[in-house]
Amino acid sequence: MKSKEMKSFESRMFDAQKTLQLGDSAMPIVHFNDALTLAKEADKLVKPPCEWSYDEDTCSWDASCGGKQLFGEGDIKENHYTFCPYCGGQIEETKHVSD
Ligand SMILES: [Zn+2]
Repeated sequence: MKSKEMKSFESRMFDAQKTLQLGDSAMPIVHFNDALTLAKEADKLVKPPCEWSYDEDTCSWDASCGGKQLFGEGDIKENHYTFCPYCGGQIEETKHVSD
């Protein structure tokens, strides 16, 4: 009984390997990238962009979702912020402070 179970396990492993090999040749990397792009586009639809405006009184950024972000140095781009850490939406700067 034990050896029979072992044999069926081995044959299942072999089937899995075959499927994997077939999958590799049937699915070029391009398809994976398309799926990734689609997933990113879908994500944008789910999460609305978040508008950030600079609050000069507190030297921090007010997010339209209610979050507040203080950077020790630099602005949003200089701190490599692309998405709002509070709501996950893509950050849109509504007021640019040059000085
Ligand atoms: Zn937000």
